[in-house]
Amino acid sequence: MNKKMFNKEIKQMGAFQFSVPSGHMNFQLGHLNIIIVTDGIGYYDKNCFAPGIARGEVNQLLDDHYIESEYFELAHNILVIQTGDRTVLVDAGNGDGSEKSVGRLPENLLHAGISLQSVTDIVLTHAHPDHINGLINKENTLVFPHADVHLSKTEYNFWMSATPDFSKSKNTIESCLFVQQQAKDCFTILGNQLKLFNEAEPLFDFLTPVLAPGHTPGHCMFAVSANDEMFIHMADIVHDEIILFSNPHWGTIFDIDFELAATTRKDILDQFARSRQRVFSYHLPWPGFGYVQKVDSTYKWVQERYLTPQFRKSI
Ligand SMILES: [Zn+2]
Repeated sequence: MNKKMFNKEIKQMGAFQFSVPSGHMNFQLGHLNIIIVTDGIGYYDKNCFAPGIARGEVNQLLDDHYIESEYFELAHNILVIQTGDRTVLVDAGNGDGSEKSVGRLPENLLHAGISLQSVTDIVLTHAHPDHINGLINKENTLVFPHADVHLSKTEYNFWMSATPDFSKSKNTIESCLFVQQQAKDCFTILGNQLKLFNEAEPLFDFLTPVLAPGHTPGHCMFAVSANDEMFIHMADIVHDEIILFSNPHWGTIFDIDFELAATTRKDILDQFARSRQRVFSYHLPWPGFGYVQKVDSTYKWVQERYLTPQFRKSI
């Protein structure tokens, strides 16, 4: 059976009928209880990725990986860390303002046994809408009423600037300004629940920021560590497991400084490949854990099999 026929068969079997994403999984990292909760799957126009690269070249690469979708399908994986009285989320998802396939974090947290009132801290990797809009509901009130929201000073200063530099982005100025307004509105509603952190200092004894600028100026990854065990949340260093691993310089229109983001992406992937670092990603396929492999001058995502003894899947 050729590939097209196979895909047609699968579609007829209903495997591609999309239902609302749900689910969570958890495991121990030293004394930390780690829970991954899905906010859903975002559907993005293919033109948002690899701007300036011939569409035929991009489509061929996707086709080689059996991806024929009209859209890029990006997971929204939310990292939750529980220890003592603290429940910490890293990012807050897309919120309920757009399509139904994302913004599912609140109900999936509840399914995982975590009430919205019990969340004590939310640490933001950066201030893009798919990471912060879940902080505020349609009535412009706080989704997590008792949570401090932590954002890097560099990121805050950029979005609050009267004249942010969007000249190095490949997005339209209108889109950039729209995203800026969303960030400013969100910060205003958060009021004094918004806490700014210095990227050079640990946030808690288990979370250390690693500034990785380019995607946004204050874009941070986070090292999560406990009892000699560690992984890195790599935030939006990559958005998909194919084109940005094969061609880290292809980038996205969402990169505020396109060239710097490409350099950072390449450097970080190289570093992860050399160190065989276990990493977690917001946008890579659920549940987002894996490793980076270097193959000649390019990279490959090696997804961690999550049904291993170290994981305990919650049902
Ligand atoms: Zn994102």
